[in-house]
Order: sequence, then structure tokens, then C-alpha cells
Amino acid sequence: WHVVRDPTLNAFAIPGGIVVVHSGLMLAADGADELAGVIAHEIEHVEQRHSLRAMLREAGLRLAVAAVIGDFGIAGSAAGQLSSLSFSRDSEREADELGLQRLARAGIDPDGMLRLFAKLDAESKGQAPPAWLASHPTTPERIARLRERIGQLPSTPRRPLAIDWPAVQSSLGS
Ligand SMILES: [Zn+2]
Repeated sequence: WHVVRDPTLNAFAIPGGIVVVHSGLMLAADGADELAGVIAHEIEHVEQRHSLRAMLREAGLRLAVAAVIGDFGIAGSAAGQLSSLSFSRDSEREADELGLQRLARAGIDPDGMLRLFAKLDAESKGQAPPAWLASHPTTPERIARLRERIGQLPSTPRRPLAIDWPAVQSSLGS
């Protein structure tokens, strides 16, 4: 897990099970449950080995093997390439759906994910979308599918996360 002091609204998973969250995204989220939606999505990219699949597609077998066996000499020299790996549409859908299930199991309100998307979307009107939305467009289909899946989730009790969010945000500076 890495928090990077960067004002752009982004979070991403890179090979090796690493999830990077920009401080800008944490400042844009109005609560821990909003950020949790994006993090759950990124965790699923890690858990489902989406990076490996994307690497095989984009970067070739040599780099994928190097990353798996931990040859960071090769993988490290390709770090830029790895952070810009784009996942397939199927991988994105899987990360959304399994991410929602993960939130439900943890008792976290899955609507937080949609609230953050809506906010980022509204802020980007007329300008370039924030980085995370650029790679994860909140198309009407995506929102409709997320809403439908949220409706199908088991009604497990949801508890607010015991995190003093304003304190977390102020610790990030601006
Ligand atoms: Zn994604």
C-alpha cells in the first residue's frame, strides 16, 4: 500500500500486489466509505491477477515472467510501463462486481463507491476527467450495472468505518 502525495485524483494497482492511492483522491472523498469503493476495485485487480493478464497482452511474456518470479531488475526498468497498464473491459467489470461483494462482506456501504463516481464526474464537466475516471469511465451502463449489483447484494448489516476521516485528510496536507 502506498499513498502518494499527488493532487491528481487517481489510484491504481501494479504488479506485485501493490496498490497506489494519490492524496488528491483521498481529499476528494467525503468519507472513508467513498474511498473504500475505489480501493475495493483496485484490490480485485490484484486478487484476480489482472496485471498479469494485461502484461501478457501489452508487455509480453518476458516482463510478465520477471514480475512473477520477482526479478525486479527487469520489472523495475519497466515500472513506467507497468503503472500505465490498462485492463480489459472484462477485467474492469470483474473488479467492479467483486469489489462490491468485498465491500458488502466487510459491512461497508457500497453506495459510497457510486457517490464518489458521481462527484468526480460532476467535477470533470467541461474539462478533462480525473485520471481514475479517464481509465474508468462512469458510463451510464457502468452506473446502471453497479446500481443493479448493489441491489442484489445480501443485506448484511452495514457499519460506518471507525475512521476519523477529517483527521486523515488534514494529515495529508493540501
Ligand atoms: Zn480498474
